[in-house]
Amino acid sequence: MKFPAFAYARPNTIDEAIALLASEDEARPLAGGQTLLPILALRMSMPSLLVDLNDIEDMKHIIVGDGVVRVGAMVTHAQNLASTEHRKYLPLLSEAVRHVAHEAIRNRGTIGGSLAHADAAAEMPLVVTALDATMIIANEDGGRRVEAKNFFGGHFTTAIESGELLTTIEFPISDHHWAFEEVARRPGDYALVMAAAGLKVNNGIVESARITLGSVADRPLRAPEAESYLTGKAISGEIAVEAAQIATQDLKSHDDIHASANYRRTVVGTLVKRALMRAATEKSA
Ligand SMILES: Cc1cc2nc3c(=O)[nH]c(=O)nc-3n(C[C@H](O)[C@H](O)[C@H](O)COP(=O)(O)OP(=O)(O)OC[C@H]3O[C@@H](n4cnc5c(N)ncnc54)[C@H](O)[C@@H]3O)c2cc1C
Repeated sequence: MKFPAFAYARPNTIDEAIALLASEDEARPLAGGQTLLPILALRMSMPSLLVDLNDIEDMKHIIVGDGVVRVGAMVTHAQNLASTEHRKYLPLLSEAVRHVAHEAIRNRGTIGGSLAHADAAAEMPLVVTALDATMIIANEDGGRRVEAKNFFGGHFTTAIESGELLTTIEFPISDHHWAFEEVARRPGDYALVMAAAGLKVNNGIVESARITLGSVADRPLRAPEAESYLTGKAISGEIAVEAAQIATQDLKSHDDIHASANYRRTVVGTLVKRALMRAATEKSA
């Protein structure tokens, strides 16, 4: 199908983009277009104005400093995959982004577009949730910061309001060891289920644990009870199995055309166990 008619603007700065987005109710940002353009072709969205973000250099940075990594919303998946800063400071992002789609899509698709789209089966929402990242959002009043745990409101729903722009994702540099596990039907497909584990271990004892589940609900889920269970314990196969059991016991997943809720609950438990064992025994990517 052909796109609906829309006006098109290509600003050079965040301020210009915000002014354009505020100028019309049905204005939409265009990032890599890997999701938005198919949606337009299917006429599932009919914006009056597309505000193309691709010339805004201030949204393409990867900056390390003050204990955080700031990643511009227009950094592509391919740039995140190639980033030596990420391998050193954000190994979970480095590992998870390998699972995002295929090379052609990674070359255009952006981290900001992925987060703004908020597909529960996408990898980047899980990564920002696991790493307690902060979304920096610009608007006509200057802007605001939203923590990842408050950013996702359900399927394809975020805290970004009409007229706003996600400009930067701020990741605190974590001292945990990380591992990411995913099951997808084929390499490059969206995840059927996925899990990330982060462990900070001192003298063989877990000081801090983070477990995040993805594609099992309408948004990424942390597993705080399993995280608490692990704290103060030495990781073993049995402990990892018990933590996975705690992480999934109250999980109300969903059936869809790809997998049943029961499948998701069972497999994500296995992924949590695998991720925990890898986080305990391997050095992060
Ligand atoms: C065949 C195929 C397979 C894929 N497989 C995967 C996969 O396995 N895992 C995965 O995670 N993704 C996958 N994707 C999606 C891909 O990662 C896209 O890059 C991503 O969903 C959207 O990013 P984009 O930059 O293309 O955003 P766009 O398509 O340009 O925009 C998406 C939405 O976000 C809004 N938006 C974009 N940027 C901003 C911003 N800075 N602030 C506010 N709103 C904004 C747009 O208005 C639009 O509503 C796949 C896509 C395709 C076509």
